[in-house]
Amino acid sequence: MASVLRGEAPRAAASAPQPRASLLQIPPYVAGRSKVAGIAKVIKLSSNESALGASPKAIEAARAGAEGMFRYPDSSVAELRAALANANGIPAEQIVCGDGSDELLHLLGQAYASPGDEVLYSQHGFVVYPMVAFAAGAVPVQSAERECVVDVDAMLAKVTARTRIVFVANPNSTGSYLPERDIVRLHAGLPPHVLLVLDAAYAEFAEMPDYEPGVRLVNKHPNVVMTRTFSKAYGLAGLRLGWAYCPPAIADVLNRLRAPFNVTLPAQHAGVAALQDTGFLDQVRAHNRRWRPWLEVELKKLGLMPVPSAANFVLTRFPGGAAQADATNAFLTQRGILVRDMKAYGLADCLRITVGLEDELKALLQALAEFLAKK
Ligand SMILES: *Cc1c(COP(=O)(O)O)cnc(C)c1O
Repeated sequence: MASVLRGEAPRAAASAPQPRASLLQIPPYVAGRSKVAGIAKVIKLSSNESALGASPKAIEAARAGAEGMFRYPDSSVAELRAALANANGIPAEQIVCGDGSDELLHLLGQAYASPGDEVLYSQHGFVVYPMVAFAAGAVPVQSAERECVVDVDAMLAKVTARTRIVFVANPNSTGSYLPERDIVRLHAGLPPHVLLVLDAAYAEFAEMPDYEPGVRLVNKHPNVVMTRTFSKAYGLAGLRLGWAYCPPAIADVLNRLRAPFNVTLPAQHAGVAALQDTGFLDQVRAHNRRWRPWLEVELKKLGLMPVPSAANFVLTRFPGGAAQADATNAFLTQRGILVRDMKAYGLADCLRITVGLEDELKALLQALAEFLAKK
């Protein structure tokens, strides 16, 4: 009876436990490097973490939260959701918090994609999207980008009867962004049963007037979710905290599916304090506003080809291709300067550099100038 209910034939006996086969297709995640053997203090510009660290008030709140760590955290994450609702002018009931936004992306995959379904994302989108697809047993499908920018028409052309989820990182993992009108056009071209997930991890840095992170689209449509994170602008990557703004029916599903205590007590406290410390966020954004354009200009002066960025990093192409990008990366590594190798994103001729502190960026530029002059 039980196997009839499961609707699956019993699997053949094996000599060891067997996972669902699709799980073994999940490519191992390669994180930005943080260490170099023999170098005590590195300059880490590889994971788009906050140049200014975390708000001192958030750190203090996490410390205070740690005192209470023998207690379970609030399963409903009420205080933080109320603070997010207040800060963003949206209903708290439609916010679901997660163990980083990665967790929320995975939960959406588990909830809305089934084996055989297709999960669509653009060529240089976040590497977590294919992981989400495989974890759900679904098929990851890529659409081409134009000059590292998401191409709405190419994406719509890849939608089939099996498409269930479309992921768009906006700003993209290349730093480019789509203005609101393009996101609206993408949404308008999707069938109503397809879920559009707008991953706005870098929204706080995207200050162009035609950018909108997704709030307005979620307000209007039952098939759009916006995900956000405290890992980047708020500097809480190590604490693991993200959130999703969802239509009510989707929030209900995520709340059933998620682990009841998926957001730790220190993370909940730090999130509230980080949101309250608007002065700190202003400093973070002002730093980025000043140093991102500087970095872009300096990279161009060296003959490199940076992609215009709306985020807190700059992706740069090397005219000498993958060999030059690799050799440069090796040289920087010897100097203890860590940037992101982009092979996992299909961008072997590029490196990606976080907008760090002034002295970090100047050390990077000096090393780059030295290496490229030798050629
Ligand atoms: C960093 C990043 C995230 C955030 O991941 P967390 O799990 O919240 O740390 C999500 N999407 C993209 C595109 C990112 O670069």
